[in-house]
Amino acid sequence: MTRPDVDQSPASESGPAPGPATAAIHQGETYSAETGAVTAPLFLSSTFAHGNPGGFDYTRSGNPNFRILEGVLAGLEGARHATVFGSGVSAMTAVLSSLRQGDRVLCEENLYGCTVRLLEQVFARFGVEAEWLDFTAVDWPERFSALTAAAPPALIWLESPTNPLLKVIDLAAVSARARAIGVPVLVDNTFATPLLQQPLALGATLSLASTTKYVNGHSDVLGGVVCSNDPAWQERLRFAQKALGLQPSAFDSWLISRGVKTLSLRLERQCANAAAVAEALAAHPAVAALRYPFRADHPQQALARRQMRQGGAMITATLRAGEDQAYGFCKGLRYFTMAESLGGVESLVCHPATMTHAAVRPEVRRRLGIDAGLVRLSIGAEDSADLIADLQRGLDRLG
Ligand SMILES: *Cc1c(COP(=O)(O)O)cnc(C)c1O
Repeated sequence: MTRPDVDQSPASESGPAPGPATAAIHQGETYSAETGAVTAPLFLSSTFAHGNPGGFDYTRSGNPNFRILEGVLAGLEGARHATVFGSGVSAMTAVLSSLRQGDRVLCEENLYGCTVRLLEQVFARFGVEAEWLDFTAVDWPERFSALTAAAPPALIWLESPTNPLLKVIDLAAVSARARAIGVPVLVDNTFATPLLQQPLALGATLSLASTTKYVNGHSDVLGGVVCSNDPAWQERLRFAQKALGLQPSAFDSWLISRGVKTLSLRLERQCANAAAVAEALAAHPAVAALRYPFRADHPQQALARRQMRQGGAMITATLRAGEDQAYGFCKGLRYFTMAESLGGVESLVCHPATMTHAAVRPEVRRRLGIDAGLVRLSIGAEDSADLIADLQRGLDRLG
């Protein structure tokens, strides 16, 4: 019995590999062959007849809509394998659940708030210990050696660009050092997406994403994925999906498969908007500092340009404002909804200190620079002139 690990679309079987925009659009075609349907069907069946050609048995451990989405996402990441999950946090839980009591995870110190919470408030109770390192510090290689010399960690956990500070980590350099001591590297690729950055090609073992964000792009579904080239990791992830019940729904997978078809178009517009917004904001007197990976004043600008195809659509700005004023700025905008999450076609603004990173201990927030005046912008696909005018009005009100 054949059991395709990912959907093998006819497009990938003949001729040269398609470009990412083509691959994202021509997906799931093996499931449309009989009817000629241009859009792959939705398989709501929770269970499947024993011995079916697809090797499906029960949707917790696999469903044609998972396979279709896994096929597209693996293709975009340049990976052999992908496993989809019900959310980004489910994907992270799947990875961490493969560790054992006493294992250590060496983490970039600025990770997504819920990643920190999962490590410190959940897996810590099962004896998995997190260690933190600033992978952009000039002496990170020495500190890395000191932390790993006695005993290597079980896993290295990176994010780039980071949330919310948009630090850019040298994924190839960290992966090379990790490889030398036999430690797998996970990269949370949610902010960049596989169209802007391919962690596996840079040497990482696992590329994880919350597909809730750019991959789906319409703020209407939660999802997660982990991609790899390593069959042993793939087996662990598939096991976690069914053993822990971390699977997505078929309908959510179908929605994400639809969303990803326009990822390339959306990113083109959103990255261009973000570059224009960053330029306009940086010139405003109420902005004390602004971070955008492709701007000349970003501390890892050269690395960002090497590692990423575009600067992304996230901007972080430090306003000359206290907590109440910064909060008021966020609430007062017209086209930016004040909300958690990011990556949709709708622009969003968030105040990390009281929202996404409220779960991070205050002293850690201070050390990282997640302060009262910090705001994070997720730039959508609206007209850039409207976004810029909206932000300028808000900044003018700060006085
Ligand atoms: C949102 C997010 C997650 C978590 O994903 P969910 O889909 O919300 O569970 C993980 N990492 C990053 C960088 C995120 O932005």
